[in-house]
Amino acid sequence: MYIERQFGISCPNFGGYVVKLVVNNFNTLEQIVAAVLEQLKVTLASHSFQALLATLESEYSRYHIHSATIEDILLDESGDTYYVCNHGACARDVSGNNITV
Ligand SMILES: [Zn+2]
Repeated sequence: MYIERQFGISCPNFGGYVVKLVVNNFNTLEQIVAAVLEQLKVTLASHSFQALLATLESEYSRYHIHSATIEDILLDESGDTYYVCNHGACARDVSGNNITV
């Protein structure tokens, strides 16, 4: 059975971008973030958005998911969209611990 979830990007440059991913084989949030960004990259590249690709490259390491855990994403059947953001101000995990972005 495929577990499909919807992810959105929340940031000034790519806000509104939404993609559905099959998450069965993901074990960490970092893997999901990388997959979402890869889809965005493919989309941008397919239309030759060179400036936006450069922006994505320079911001790449800042993107994270802070509002859910990997368990939430794998187990939650609510159909919620999970957001990938790049805001330094929300660099905390769900337990309120500081994380590196
Ligand atoms: Zn955040």
